[in-house]
Amino acid sequence: MIPFLDLKKINEPYETAFQEKLKLVLASGWYILGNEVKEFEFNFATFCKAKHCIGVGNGFDALTLIFKGYIQLEKLQKGDEVIVPANTYIASILAILEAGLIPVLVEPKLDTYNINPDLIVEKITLKTKAILAVHLYGQLAEMDAINTIAAKHNLLVVEDAAQAHGAVANYNFQIPNSKTQSDDNFAILLAPRSGAGGASAYSFYPGKNLGALGDGGAIITNDSALAKIVFSLRNYGSETKYYNEYAGVNSRLDELQAAFLNVKLPHLDAENEQRRRIARRYLAEIKNDKIMLPKWDSSNNHVFHLFVIRTEKRAELQKYLHENGIQTVIHYPVPPHKQKALSEWNDLSFPITEIIHETVLSLPISPVLTDEEVTLIIAILNKY
Ligand SMILES: *Cc1c(COP(=O)(O)O)cnc(C)c1O
Repeated sequence: MIPFLDLKKINEPYETAFQEKLKLVLASGWYILGNEVKEFEFNFATFCKAKHCIGVGNGFDALTLIFKGYIQLEKLQKGDEVIVPANTYIASILAILEAGLIPVLVEPKLDTYNINPDLIVEKITLKTKAILAVHLYGQLAEMDAINTIAAKHNLLVVEDAAQAHGAVANYNFQIPNSKTQSDDNFAILLAPRSGAGGASAYSFYPGKNLGALGDGGAIITNDSALAKIVFSLRNYGSETKYYNEYAGVNSRLDELQAAFLNVKLPHLDAENEQRRRIARRYLAEIKNDKIMLPKWDSSNNHVFHLFVIRTEKRAELQKYLHENGIQTVIHYPVPPHKQKALSEWNDLSFPITEIIHETVLSLPISPVLTDEEVTLIIAILNKY
């Protein structure tokens, strides 16, 4: 059986380094917000070519704290509307609600699965104050178009990068305190990652491209005022121990998880390249009329957290693959607006989102999937 995702195999090469880190942390006697967290925050900010990284408890908290930070800064207020893709993992939407804001759903494009920028403007009202772009399955959303709309309507841009660690942005950001972006190649030369523009939320859930051995998350931003507030909000709203400026929460990146992430981060680009290599093979070699392949422009803006195909008779294909020793997963079976948890939206209609949820199937993809396994998967798919 080829498993969908072999996490044990992914982490095995790091075992010795993990054990050394464990010894170090144990011996330090300092287990919360110590040197490993500080080091990781520096390393991940540098990796993203951004000014600030704030380690937090998980990806959901990273999103929520960005919104709560903007509320503290009075750039948002409770009840403001936030544009968000209808086609996303529900966490994106729940985070908006958790911060006391109102999600406004927008349909995706069928071939990239990401939000359709052309449909954003018609959803903007006087109460719209932000866009939450989601880089679904590892592919950056169309940030050029999204940033242009945001600038025109004076909206904040927040990115859910929980599936897109290391994706390279080839769009122009306004980077504060740096030279202007008159040179078209500026951003490309700089190769910033998601978050170097506005603010981005990352998750280090074990199955993500940069996965810890437990929960973890981070906020990436160039906005120093926002960074200062979320730095405090994650730790009970306190910057100086026992002095609390804000009604914050407890959402700190765990010291041991940070230590493990420091081991894995230097290998992320190579692991993502391996994922892209597999994706290139799937795209070139899967030839079956019953299978619709995802759209990708071949740039490094995609880190293939998932390789998601579509097919009309999904249950049949999934069963066939299972019988032939290939495990697949559905991301995701029920759209957010059809979930019981969001029952007030159950009667809304988002046809493209619904088609996607009815037809998607994720094939195995990971840095430890072998060439032989990829060859076998392609052969079995082509025989279907
Ligand atoms: C995983 C994920 C999250 C949430 O991250 P957690 O660490 O599980 O809280 C948010 N958004 C998207 C798109 C995700 O894939």
